Amino acid sequence: MDTEKSAIFIIFGGSGDLAHRKLYPSLFRLYKTGLLKDHFAVIGTARRPWSDDYFRGTVITSLEESFDDDKKIMEEFAKHFFYQSHDVNDSEHYIALKNLAAKLDDQFEAGHNRVYYMAIAPRFFGTVAEHLNSEGLKTKDGYNRLVIEKPFGRDLDSACELNGNISKAFPEDDIYRIDHYLGKEMIQDIPNIRANNPKFEAALNNKYVSNIQVTLAESLGVEDRGGYYETAGVLRDMVQNHIMQIIGSIASDDPEAKDAGVIHKNKCDLFASLKNLTPEEVDKNFVRGQYDTDELGDEKAYRQEDKVAEDSQIETFTAGKVEFNSKRWSGVPFYVRSGKRMPNKASRIDIVFNEKVSELGIKPNTVLTLLIERTNDHSILINGIDYKESGQDFIKFPEEPEFTKACEAYESLIIDILSGNRVHFTLWDELRSTWKYIDSIRERWDSQKADFPNYISGTMGPDSAEMLLERDGNSWIWD
Ligand code: NAD
Repeated sequence: MDTEKSAIFIIFGGSGDLAHRKLYPSLFRLYKTGLLKDHFAVIGTARRPWSDDYFRGTVITSLEESFDDDKKIMEEFAKHFFYQSHDVNDSEHYIALKNLAAKLDDQFEAGHNRVYYMAIAPRFFGTVAEHLNSEGLKTKDGYNRLVIEKPFGRDLDSACELNGNISKAFPEDDIYRIDHYLGKEMIQDIPNIRANNPKFEAALNNKYVSNIQVTLAESLGVEDRGGYYETAGVLRDMVQNHIMQIIGSIASDDPEAKDAGVIHKNKCDLFASLKNLTPEEVDKNFVRGQYDTDELGDEKAYRQEDKVAEDSQIETFTAGKVEFNSKRWSGVPFYVRSGKRMPNKASRIDIVFNEKVSELGIKPNTVLTLLIERTNDHSILINGIDYKESGQDFIKFPEEPEFTKACEAYESLIIDILSGNRVHFTLWDELRSTWKYIDSIRERWDSQKADFPNYISGTMGPDSAEMLLERDGNSWIWD
């Protein structure tokens, strides 16, 4: 059994969707493993005037949607939950929160440890962090860790401003910026896979790789998130964070590094070597799309979705060619693609080797695919079939995957937060480089009107996404 952890969680946005759909179920799983047991409490805060009992009821309801455990254990777990009505701008409320946290710390013997979790609208992140500091919520004897959800800014300027605000209140080492893709098992396994397969690692460079493709595709549209999506678009929502972090896991140096500082430095170095784009290069290297209705006219076009402008210029699809100015990767295109209303859901990395790779005993032009979502035991494919059946032995999992473990991304990230392990969180320096890169694309797009909608729901996006690769003599592996 894992060692029990002690902490008081203060969840800003404790009545919201993220808290109920992801955080409380993850905390419950940790409770069932014993990692959280007697020495923890959760304070949910939000504006509504809920009682503790009402709050506990909502927590149990959310658990019942995901678990079929005996209700008794859910009720025992919910006894650790408390509610404090709170307006983020009201200083008095922070004092009340501080007193409640201190009282619960005594009651549960939580070691003066605090996890402040921002499950709240991004515009409040800075305000809350500043108040936590100025109203003296931070404890002296335990740790004080600030967890920030995405999006971290909407461009480099706003990200800088936000970072300035939170770093006045918390040192960088206590800030945990969530990118939930970094909590996914496959992404966390990639450094191990690289470190344990010397031939594969030896092939991961511009001598042997023709191109690398990262696809995050969804079959759904924006559903009820049209209002949010109108302020984001897929470039900000998926590329700046998740896709860049996936590239970081496969392409940064020294996968054997165990030290968080070294791992982050390698990732920062990689992102600092991003080949920034001129406006003309944006036109050439990035394409955008917006979904129309499907072939039968049954599905809503993006512009017909709730809270979406009739003439919206927001992209629901993008594909692009990302390049690095590094010794290891210079000349290798990283083709990235993400979109809504594609034929299927897919999260995958396809590594396409060239002919020279036969020097390493790998068959020429081999395609290695890492499937990020493990829905079955086929997580690594070689030329489209499970690697164990491929007849090529240059890659193996360090150990057989335990699919029963099925650790949810949020559960794994919460364990890291409680353990003070920042490896799977993003550093400010990484964000600065990726925002700078994304801004150059966004600015170009904002200066030119797109001819939207330009792809039919249920298809692979606009034709320009195919042409992007054809021009280089390549093609998408997942098509
Ligand atoms: P939500 O609208 O469901 O919840 C927002 C919460 O903030 C509610 O509890 C609300 O009562 C509270 N709140 C609003 N104004 C307040 C105020 N002035 N003072 C105090 N509390 C206030 O939103 P959500 O979907 O849970 O998202 C929360 C955060 O998590 C956002 O930053 C979002 O971008 C991020 N996020 C959410 C998801 C998800 O799956 N929902 C995924 C990734 C990131």
